[in-house]
Amino acid sequence: MPSLRPILDTWRASPLVATTLIDPTKTSPGTPIPQLLDQQVSIGLRGDGPLSTRELVPLTREATKLLNGTHRDAARSVLRGVLGTLDAAKGANDLRGISFSTNPGAFVTQSLISNIEAGLHPDSVKGNDAVAFEKSMVELAAGSAGTKAQNLGWMDLGPAITSKVFGLIQRPPRVANDDAKDVALTFLHELEHNVTPFDVHTTAKQHYWLEEGLAESLAWWPGRAADLLAKMGTPLAKGDVVDPWSVPDENQASAAYRGRHQAIMGLLGLAGVAPTRDDGSTDPGALARARQLLQGEDLAQVPRNLARAIVRNLDVDPDLTDVVSDLVVDVQGDPKQVRALSELLRTRGRTTG
Ligand SMILES: [Zn+2]
Repeated sequence: MPSLRPILDTWRASPLVATTLIDPTKTSPGTPIPQLLDQQVSIGLRGDGPLSTRELVPLTREATKLLNGTHRDAARSVLRGVLGTLDAAKGANDLRGISFSTNPGAFVTQSLISNIEAGLHPDSVKGNDAVAFEKSMVELAAGSAGTKAQNLGWMDLGPAITSKVFGLIQRPPRVANDDAKDVALTFLHELEHNVTPFDVHTTAKQHYWLEEGLAESLAWWPGRAADLLAKMGTPLAKGDVVDPWSVPDENQASAAYRGRHQAIMGLLGLAGVAPTRDDGSTDPGALARARQLLQGEDLAQVPRNLARAIVRNLDVDPDLTDVVSDLVVDVQGDPKQVRALSELLRTRGRTTG
C-alpha cells in the first residue's frame, strides 16, 4: 500500500534531516529533527466519502499511542466530531491528515513539511540542499511563534492548541470549558480552509484576506461551535454561549483576524444575510446563504458573489456590480472600509435616488 504521506518517508531516510539540529527556537535547542518527527502525532486520512467516515491512519509512534492507547475512545470521538463538521459542506474536502505538535520545534518541522508539499518552500530535503533547508527552517521558526495552526491541505496544530486538545482527550470536562471552546473555534476555522480550495500558485494575494475572513466568520457563526462541542462530547452548559464577547482575553483572535471577521460580517449584512433577525431570534437559513456567498469553487468568485447580492439587496443599479466587486476586494479586512462602502451604496440606491 502506498504511503499516506511519502514526504515523511523521504525525511526519515534523509541524511540531511538526520544531521540537522533545530536551534532557532528557545524551547527546543539543538533537538535532532528525526527526534522531532517522532514526537509528532501525525494522522493520515484514508478513503473518500464524508470526512468523518474516513480511516484514521497513525503515521508516527505517538499517533499510534493516541489512537490505540488508554484514551483511544475519547481521542477518536473528538477527531470524528471535528471531521464531521465538514460532512454536510459542499465543496472539496481535500483534507489529507492532521498533525499535533507538542513543542515549538516539532511545530516548525511539521509546518515545513506541509509548506514544502504545498509548494510554498523549495523541496530542500529532496534536493539535499542544506542552505535552503536551514533558510526555510529559520523563516518558519520566526513566523510560527504566533501561529496557532495552519492548514494547507494537511492540518498542523501548534503546541498551545495541541495541549488543549490532549487535555480534552485525557480529562474530558463534563461541559465545555474555555479550552474546549478554543479547540472548537480553531478547528472550525481551519476546516473552512478545506472547503474552497486555496492554491498559493493561483490565488491572488489581494484575495488572501477573504479566505481568512470567511474562515473566521463561519467558525464564529452562532451555533456552530456549540454543535461541534456537542459532537466532541463536551456540550455547552445550559445557558452558556460561544461568542466573541465571552472568550477570555488570551483566547481572543488577533486584531487583524477580528477586523477581517467584522468586515466579512459587514459585507454579508449589506447582502442581506445576518445570523440573527432584527428581533434577536436566529435565522436558521442564514448560514447556508452565507456559505453560498463565501464558499464555492474558487475564492476569486467571492467578491462578485457578494457584489451581486449587495446590489440586489440595496437596490443599486446592476451595472455597478463590477465596481462593487472591486470595492469588496479593496476592503482588505478593514471594517471601516465596509462602512464607507455602505454609505456610498445607500446614496446610490435606486429607491433613495
Ligand atoms: Zn486561517
